[in-house]
Amino acid sequence: MLANILLFTPPAQAPLPPTGEIITTLQAIDFIGEPYPDRIGIDYQPGTALMQHLTFLGCSPALALGAPGINGDAYCHIELLGPLATPRFIFGENLKPIACPHCRERLSATLIKNSVDNLATLTCPHCQQRAPAATINWRKSAGCSRLFIKVWGIFDSEAIPNDSLLTPLGQLTDNIAWSYFYYRGHPF
Ligand SMILES: [Zn+2]
Repeated sequence: MLANILLFTPPAQAPLPPTGEIITTLQAIDFIGEPYPDRIGIDYQPGTALMQHLTFLGCSPALALGAPGINGDAYCHIELLGPLATPRFIFGENLKPIACPHCRERLSATLIKNSVDNLATLTCPHCQQRAPAATINWRKSAGCSRLFIKVWGIFDSEAIPNDSLLTPLGQLTDNIAWSYFYYRGHPF
């Protein structure tokens, strides 16, 4: 079963905020609630205001509520992944094609998957120029960071985060905006 996840990443230009500050911030605006008892610091229940911090584009948004590991990962919960020792490039089956930042040739999702090394650097198969994945605009279909907030159970482009969420996150990183993207693929 494929997972659908909305992910947030802090800006690469700012120091990573401590995870405790991220959790405090998300709890203060009721985006997240209490942690699952055996997953403190990692998995949190949706906050009572979670739906108010996202704009759903469909006519009948429905978040499946439950508990990870008990009802399955499709259920909406919020997970903190990181801080990781090195940046991780995350993409799923919804990865979109991009233009090479050097030669502008179109790179299909398959070409991209075959052209990114384990240091999260893309080598263009057309011009052989290299670019760190973290510097590329993935059109909200991938991200590269040492820290991710994962909102499980949100489908690709189904919901857009509001400033009521993005502004407090930005305040954790010198008022530089966070990025977000959508993932559809195997649970991780
Ligand atoms: Zn190129």
